[in-house]
Amino acid sequence: MKKVYLDNAATTQLRPEVVAEMTKVLLEDFGNPSSTHAFGRNSKNLIELSRKSIAKNLHCTAQEIIFTSCGTEANNFIIQSCIRDLKIERIITSKIEHHAVLHTIEILERQYDFKVDFVNILPTGDIDIVHLSDLLSSNQKTLVSLMHVNNEIGTVLNLDRISKICKQYHAYFHTDTVQSVGKTIINLQETPIDFLVASAHKFHGPKGIGFAFIRKGIVLNPILLGGEQEKGLRAGTESVHNIVGLANALDISYLHLVEEQKYIASLKQYCFKELINTFPEIKINGENNIEISNSDYHFSTFYNILNVILPLSEEKTAMLLFHLDIKGIAVSRGSACQSGSSKPSHVLAEFLNEADLKKPSLRISFSHYNTKDDIDYLIDTLKSI
Ligand code: PLP
Repeated sequence: MKKVYLDNAATTQLRPEVVAEMTKVLLEDFGNPSSTHAFGRNSKNLIELSRKSIAKNLHCTAQEIIFTSCGTEANNFIIQSCIRDLKIERIITSKIEHHAVLHTIEILERQYDFKVDFVNILPTGDIDIVHLSDLLSSNQKTLVSLMHVNNEIGTVLNLDRISKICKQYHAYFHTDTVQSVGKTIINLQETPIDFLVASAHKFHGPKGIGFAFIRKGIVLNPILLGGEQEKGLRAGTESVHNIVGLANALDISYLHLVEEQKYIASLKQYCFKELINTFPEIKINGENNIEISNSDYHFSTFYNILNVILPLSEEKTAMLLFHLDIKGIAVSRGSACQSGSSKPSHVLAEFLNEADLKKPSLRISFSHYNTKDDIDYLIDTLKSI
């Protein structure tokens, strides 16, 4: 059966070069990095070379990178440690953050004394920057936690602008960059972000490894206690093969960034053109100013995510993902409806009206492994529903 993977915001296929590099480490470099003998020193060396390579790609220093098991852990670590160690009095976040941020804040609110303010979401799904400045103007020790690229709708936060606003108001700025690291340039020397997080499986690296960037000079304490790994900031024997795989995947992603961006953006363009030909009433979630020039669409949403509302009836909506799955197509609904629950996505619920919320929203997310054929197959299958 034909298989088409268009769910790259959920996870991505590993690059073969990364698998080869990781396999070598698994087979040959098995020493415990904390051991002082040659086997251990060799593993430690691989970790430090990986850290340096990541730092080079993000324009920061190696000591600012702390490895974690995933993006979720990195978010937990930063948010929890900020509240506990930096004595944060207030967090400003949004209701469209990933649950790795939202649920963490929700639970911490029960344990620590701090206030949570939610910045308004505009009808397009973007953050209301004027409201953010308003909130920041009250003088409290604040952590702002806002994601860069939204994993469901692909809206993009202007990191440069937000980080400078936070700096102006002396607030710490944490950004969940799980969807953007490896997919767009992030220059930490020029952009005054205090904390960011990444996860290798979103940029064609392995699952089970991520990192936190903590700006030099900010002192946090670990949430995972034990040994002295990661300068005492994250105990636990390091996953050497995963760390090497992460660094390698990131390096390759940035090496091919321009050509892959261009190619993936052309796929999104093609997909939308085909969709709108088939379903003229289609709408894009999160799109604030779609422009057309030379019959090309210019999207404000991120180049690898296309979240659309399909004008389908309710009974077709219920069967949509199931039908696509039977045909070998992997996309995401952006809602929990497929599991029998009619609870809409917490992101879409923030800005869609009741009628649109009932219609099927489909998140199609691309990678350089996709082809126009994949899109043709998706469109043909959607036509047949
Ligand atoms: N943040 C965002 C924006 C994500 O898309 C994801 C993954 O879906 C996460 C955090 C969690 O990352 P991980 O799967 O590495 O825990």
